[in-house]
Amino acid sequence: MHEFEFIEKIMEEGASDSRSMRRVTKGIGDDCAIIPQETGTDTLISTDMLIEGTHFTLDRIGAYMLGSKSASVNISDIAAMGGTPTAAFLSLALPSSLDDEWRMEFIKGFLSRCKEFDVALLGGDTTASPDRLCINVTVMGTCTHGKAIRRDRAKVGDLVCVTGTLGNSAAGLRLLLEGDPEGCNENASPNDSARRYLVFKHLMPYPMVWGGQKLLECGGVHAMMDISDGVASDLRHILHASGVGAEIDVLKLPLSDQLKQLCSERGWDPVELALCGGEDYELLFTIDPQVEPDLFLRHYIIGKITADPDSIEWIGGKSSRDYLGFRHF
Ligand code: ADP
Ligand code: MG
Repeated sequence: MHEFEFIEKIMEEGASDSRSMRRVTKGIGDDCAIIPQETGTDTLISTDMLIEGTHFTLDRIGAYMLGSKSASVNISDIAAMGGTPTAAFLSLALPSSLDDEWRMEFIKGFLSRCKEFDVALLGGDTTASPDRLCINVTVMGTCTHGKAIRRDRAKVGDLVCVTGTLGNSAAGLRLLLEGDPEGCNENASPNDSARRYLVFKHLMPYPMVWGGQKLLECGGVHAMMDISDGVASDLRHILHASGVGAEIDVLKLPLSDQLKQLCSERGWDPVELALCGGEDYELLFTIDPQVEPDLFLRHYIIGKITADPDSIEWIGGKSSRDYLGFRHF
């Protein structure tokens, strides 16, 4: 079983039977669970785990940045539904090799991102780990009842859009793994060189909370999620949940100048990085073609929704078999 088959099996075993779901709008299968409240709002809840060796290695990311990224990738799941993040819970299994200074830097990074989005850290758990660092974050948010943008409502004819350039994070990760000396400078600013910009995008992703809210307000967005595993994988979740297909114009994928520059220097394939790399944390959404999203919100049209369930046609690219996003197993 790969990761997503396992999750489907959990659902088949009755994780969300009709009795336990009677006070819940949406359980497993979206960026967040949706729980209606009597106040006319919905509570959104999501949880994510980051494991040393799988999601990061301690020699490639500093404590502050890791704390910030742990908050960001979770807040991003609230953004993915157009919600407003409100609270977080942080659980840590800490190996003894991480000293007090490291621990406090991590917490400072985590809290600084939380403060930026008015998210209160309300609890968690702290234990010792015999070996690797394990970080689990649960994040809560809110939105008007019935308005959260889910993955399962894409409609045939919708435009498929993303909120920003793709592949930067994957290129940054590749530079880090190759030990690129300039790219690995932890004090890099995104304005320095192309390599530093890409590494920064990998280490310090920014959750698109404002963008998600604007997309909710504009009314025509039918389906949305955040890009954590790469469009090639993430789009499949929207298609599968909605029972539709898509045509994606590979030549329209938005690529940053920095990514183009690096790919031409190194002979890397920018399309492969953009579609399969993941961790960009931009939003992927489908929108009624008659509705203009907020003019101030940057967005790029990359394709359209078709009637052929679960199929993706990559126009101008390789065959669909060749574009697989990230899967844990
Ligand atoms: P995301 O990338 O947005 O975090 P995932 O692809 O990790 O979402 O998960 C897809 C869905 O499966 C989510 O609704 C998530 O809550 C659910 N899920 C993942 N793992 C488990 C599990 N072990 N038990 C129950 N639900 C799970
Ligand atoms: Mg998500």
